[in-house]
Amino acid sequence: MAVPLITLNDGNRIPQLGFGVYQIKPRDTVEAVTAALKIGYRHIDTAEMYRNEREVGDAIADSGIDRGEVFITSKLSNAFHRPDDARKAFDETLSALGTEYVDLFLIHWPLPTQYDGDFVSTWNTMIEFARDGRARSVGVSNFQVPHLERLAAETDLVPAVNQIEVHPYITNETVRAYNAEHGIVTEAWSPIAQGEVLDDPVVTRIADRVGRTPAQVTLRWHIQRGDVIFPKSVNPARMKENFELFDFELTGEDLDAIAALDKGDEGRTGPHPDTFDRIPR
Ligand code: NAD
Repeated sequence: MAVPLITLNDGNRIPQLGFGVYQIKPRDTVEAVTAALKIGYRHIDTAEMYRNEREVGDAIADSGIDRGEVFITSKLSNAFHRPDDARKAFDETLSALGTEYVDLFLIHWPLPTQYDGDFVSTWNTMIEFARDGRARSVGVSNFQVPHLERLAAETDLVPAVNQIEVHPYITNETVRAYNAEHGIVTEAWSPIAQGEVLDDPVVTRIADRVGRTPAQVTLRWHIQRGDVIFPKSVNPARMKENFELFDFELTGEDLDAIAALDKGDEGRTGPHPDTFDRIPR
């Protein structure tokens, strides 16, 4: 079951399905990533703020799989938006991951109420990492349309991806549409709403009909919409379940019925990007 590759606006290719490691404790991360790689995942989504980059790097190194076969994403901590801090933090990311480059590096949150609202100089610093080749691709996360419009007006590189919260309870269509119109790939975080959508009767009814689990149906919905996903689990049986998405299909009616579960901002499991301002110490 080959995972499709999606071509980014810089020509690089990203596996549409990966493995996310948010909230996996450092001491559990080597085991989880090792299991994921064994199952066949070749795309790992981590972040400086997850505090498990070192363990992600260790698991990849120990696996014996060529570095070039694994797509690694990390993200700039909210604490390091100022250019000099970002440069130092990026050096530390590469060193923790034990690699000379990441496939993708993202600004984790726009933090429009912090740093005098200046995420533009942060983005220009990300562009440096792309130009020197240590980040094969660069992008953003949790950027709303006005944030993206500002990057478009004030800088000369369009982000390769925008990683935002998307699942049946927040379909985030306005941001997805802007992304699509501007050649930005949407990455859907918390694709199963951290498990919240799995008991939804619309999802379970479709799952019964197609003989798949609610998680598989929800993940397949994202795949057919074209977004990149990286569900998280520390349970190898669930990791395997979440990887088996390419031998069945949902109908257009199924896709619409799941999309109709959208609750807008009410459906978020995470904070709102316009107001989120947490800076870790
Ligand atoms: P998710 O939607 O992937 O849900 C994960 C939870 O669902 C797990 O903890 C597990 O309890 C449960 N689960 C997983 N597979 C299951 C299955 N098959 N059956 C039943 N339950 C199952 O949520 P997430 O971890 O928040 O999001 C995925 C990834 O997205 C993260 O690991 C991270 O890489 C990324 N993310 C990014 C941001 C951001 O701000 N950029 C925010 C949150 C998450």
